Amino acid sequence: MPIRHVRVAVLVVFALSVGAFGSHRSARAYELLGGQWPGISSLGFCISTSYSGSDAAWDTGLYYWDYLSSEFGYHTSCNGNKVSLLDANYSQVSWDGLAELIPSPVSNPYTGAAAYLNYHHTQNYTTTKIASVAGHELGHIFGLAHESGCVLMNAATSVRYTSCGVWYATSDDRDGVSYIY
Ligand SMILES: [Zn+2]
Repeated sequence: MPIRHVRVAVLVVFALSVGAFGSHRSARAYELLGGQWPGISSLGFCISTSYSGSDAAWDTGLYYWDYLSSEFGYHTSCNGNKVSLLDANYSQVSWDGLAELIPSPVSNPYTGAAAYLNYHHTQNYTTTKIASVAGHELGHIFGLAHESGCVLMNAATSVRYTSCGVWYATSDDRDGVSYIY
């Protein structure tokens, strides 16, 4: 699936550049990709997965973002949805999740998005560890970039979940979404 890999590269390179060159490193602990949806309260999400653990993780990820963030409301529908929440089985890559934004992470407005859980890796995760990946990818879909520390938007599952125990949005992550919307 070379197209997906190209899109991954765009997102990862951009996220790294934000980390390297972002100038807003004061009190806030979030970084923004640069694009946004016209609003996130009416976004429709279509969950379509092969591995049942992926389905549960997307549900959990959506539930906690909705529960914790006053800006966010969602409905799951595969009719006219803007966001596809999927999974894949890629043994040759190290990523456990990725998000792609259409037309690009820096574009306004976003018109579509897709995110993947790679169950080649996540099938060995606990349910909360998979939810940590799903919630992280949803953060990208809302417009958040990578951030260091014990936040949901930490890029590394080994840090975010294994070291920090974070599997849903922290106050810093929620502040980022509040700032955008
Ligand atoms: Zn990420």
